[in-house]
Amino acid sequence: MIPVQSGRDHTERLELSCDVVVVGSGASGAVVACTMAEAGYDVLVLEEGPFVPYTDYGAMRPSESLRYTWRGAAVTVAYGLGDTPHINMTMGRVVGGSSVLTGGVCFRVPPSILHRWRTERGIAEMTEEELEPYYQEVETAVHVEEVPEEMRSRSTKLFVLGAARRGIEMRPMKRNTEGCNGCGRCNFGCPHGAKLSVDLTYLPRAAHHGARILADCLVDRVTMKGDRAVGVTGRLLNGKHGKPGSEVVVHARRVVLAAGAAFTPLLLKRSGVHGVSGQVGKNVTVHPGFRTIALFDDKVEGWKGAMQSAYGDVHDPEGLTLTSLFIPPAVLAATMPGVGPELMRRAQNVPYLALFGGIIHDEGGGRVWPGLGREPILTYRMARHDRALIPALVRIMGEAFFAVGAKEIYIPVLGAPPLDADAFRAFPFETVKARDIECSSQHPLGSCRMGKTREHSVVDPLGKVWDTRELYVVDGSIVPTSLGVNPQLTIMTLATRIAHRLRETPLAS
Ligand SMILES: Cc1cc2nc3c(=O)[nH]c(=O)nc-3n(C[C@H](O)[C@H](O)[C@H](O)COP(=O)(O)OP(=O)(O)OC[C@H]3O[C@@H](n4cnc5c(N)ncnc54)[C@H](O)[C@@H]3O)c2cc1C
Ligand code: SF4
Repeated sequence: MIPVQSGRDHTERLELSCDVVVVGSGASGAVVACTMAEAGYDVLVLEEGPFVPYTDYGAMRPSESLRYTWRGAAVTVAYGLGDTPHINMTMGRVVGGSSVLTGGVCFRVPPSILHRWRTERGIAEMTEEELEPYYQEVETAVHVEEVPEEMRSRSTKLFVLGAARRGIEMRPMKRNTEGCNGCGRCNFGCPHGAKLSVDLTYLPRAAHHGARILADCLVDRVTMKGDRAVGVTGRLLNGKHGKPGSEVVVHARRVVLAAGAAFTPLLLKRSGVHGVSGQVGKNVTVHPGFRTIALFDDKVEGWKGAMQSAYGDVHDPEGLTLTSLFIPPAVLAATMPGVGPELMRRAQNVPYLALFGGIIHDEGGGRVWPGLGREPILTYRMARHDRALIPALVRIMGEAFFAVGAKEIYIPVLGAPPLDADAFRAFPFETVKARDIECSSQHPLGSCRMGKTREHSVVDPLGKVWDTRELYVVDGSIVPTSLGVNPQLTIMTLATRIAHRLRETPLAS
């Protein structure tokens, strides 16, 4: 088990010194902490969330997991502006960050996106050749492997067959797993230690090389001396009911922000680091996600098997990716339409339900605003082109399920009844109000985007905040555009690339 200290174990003000302080212990922060500690730097990792050993996950009900390891118990929302659905934004708040909650899905950045980064954003060094060694390093560290077909759930198998009948080719996904038994609990923390999230890979390596990890510690701001970052300040969560309590002051020679796309812009703003671009907190992309549920005559028991195992990119040029998923039966039951006896009857159908999802490669329109308390306010205005893709995506998913005999489909529209094939085809999707559409996102990106000029970006291509010294951002906020695929592998790869440079760059004295 990693030696993690908790802010709750301290009763008084805490003052610490280190070479490098890393704020956030998730996918990106863990990579940087590990790389720097292995290179001999004195590293301190500060994490707002608690430490939960993976052996505890099996004993937690999903509702407990939501409460202890998901930010805001998973009810965080990006408020839709204009013709945009409200979006349920989920993020991890635990040692290991969102990496602990992933379905394990791993994608490299598609070449077409890298092309955009070079041509539209001017980041000429973003080539497949440049990123290759860093991808390889991460893929080895977290054991990226293809999900074998026999591990697909019946829910996914039905969709893949239906898609094939509709001429849509589906491909096997890769995940960061080793020894996975297909129990389908990935989003609530893998109780078998088979999903190699950063709490099982990079953080133990960092700790082995002397990095200190302090959980239950909320960083408020970066301490700036002129243009130079010299540490951070915050609060230990040792107050009543885990509220912010004693002050924590860290003196550091280098500050690395890895608090995720929703929080890093807040930290910069609170620290008075706005930059000349005015882009801090803007340009957020989220990969708006939609799911479609299908009822079959025979049992599906979609929770048996790897939660995510197949994807389809044939609609990639239009801006859509199909992606398998499943959610625990109890959660699925609660999302059925109807109330009272009607809901009970539908909930009994859970073993007969299959589920599939899709994401939109969005153009952005998200924004992080400072909130009154410690959480940010997120807003999202969907581009017209992206909004028009929602009906198209739901139709593709529904038709694939009908092609393998689905009786009825539950569409992601609040208040909509279950639809048989005729009703589905006649359903006026285009006139559904945005407010009635169910939408979720696990992939906030871009709020401190990297770029070539201080006028258009927040950090340079090596994560350094423009016009500052010893202040770096390494998390999902630097990703310059939507990826169209799950981001953890790319975030970790970009963080690895930055960390390699940082370990070669002497600390300012
Ligand atoms: C339910 C779910 C499923 C997902 N599935 C996949 C998947 O299958 N494949 C994939 O590629 N991606 C997936 N993702 C997305 C992926 O996990 C994230 O993109 C990735 O982890 C982001 O890395 P990060 O370092 O930017 O932030 P995170 O990993 O989120 O880490 C940020 C950390 O910073 C901490 N923090 C924030 N503010 C502060 C502060 N002020 N002080 C101290 N600490 C702070 C947070 O508590 C958090 O632990 C999923 C995400 C979720 C939520
Ligand atoms: S399906 Fe595999 S990776 Fe996911 S929780 Fe179960 S054992 Fe872990």
